[in-house]
Amino acid sequence: MMIDIFFLGVGLIVGSFLNVVFMRTEREESYVGGRSHCDACEKTLSWCDNIPVLSYLILRGKCRFCKEVIPRQHLWFELGTGGIFFFLGKVFFRVDNPETWLLTLFLGVLISFFVLIVASDIASMEIPLVFLVGINIATALYIVLNFFFFERQLPFLETALWTSLLGGFCAWLFFFGLVYFSQETWMGWGDVWIALAGGTVVGIKYVLLMLTLSFAVGALFGISLLFWKSKKLTTQVPFAPFLVFGIVIILLAKELTPQFLGYFIW
Ligand SMILES: [Zn+2]
Repeated sequence: MMIDIFFLGVGLIVGSFLNVVFMRTEREESYVGGRSHCDACEKTLSWCDNIPVLSYLILRGKCRFCKEVIPRQHLWFELGTGGIFFFLGKVFFRVDNPETWLLTLFLGVLISFFVLIVASDIASMEIPLVFLVGINIATALYIVLNFFFFERQLPFLETALWTSLLGGFCAWLFFFGLVYFSQETWMGWGDVWIALAGGTVVGIKYVLLMLTLSFAVGALFGISLLFWKSKKLTTQVPFAPFLVFGIVIILLAKELTPQFLGYFIW
């Protein structure tokens, strides 16, 4: 119970932080310095107006000074990330297992990058390079640390490090080929680097399934757009959200229903 509240609380704070990072990135502002301020009247906000969710509710969604409406986006970032972290703690974290401590910490970072990447891709069809570099550095750091702490006694070919390296390379190569030969008409370069992190995270055994899931859901979404909004076939749809979807589903299935997942793996 305490742990659930802890994860929810951390998620709310992280969500509030991600919202700031997302907005500063979109506006190409500096990350350091500059207290948070109201976008309408520019007044600096005190700490008590910066409490995730609570401040929004107390202020009834309006700036304390100029009464301008605070965008709902703040609330969605906080509640969304809070919910995800709560779920993350429930599914992956076990107090008595040090391996899950490292894993949960890493997944928290990974999910944070996913939130930023999906938000950017939907907002502007572009994924800032810092997020792509960041997610791959975090992933590389995790597989190396995990190997160092928990896998050093294993034969190398049986370690997660090895299946991760292989998985990352295959997913990266596949997307690199797609983007290169289609000259960026099917996918963007951003997707190549998300695929690298994704393949590394799920491991070689699950790469094909991850890709199948992403493309299937992406195609379904594209087809329904054609019907419902009568968009043209040339309409660009951001692909990163579907890639992220594929990665998340595999991670969840590996943890929750490994036997069921086994049916889809050779
Ligand atoms: Zn204001």
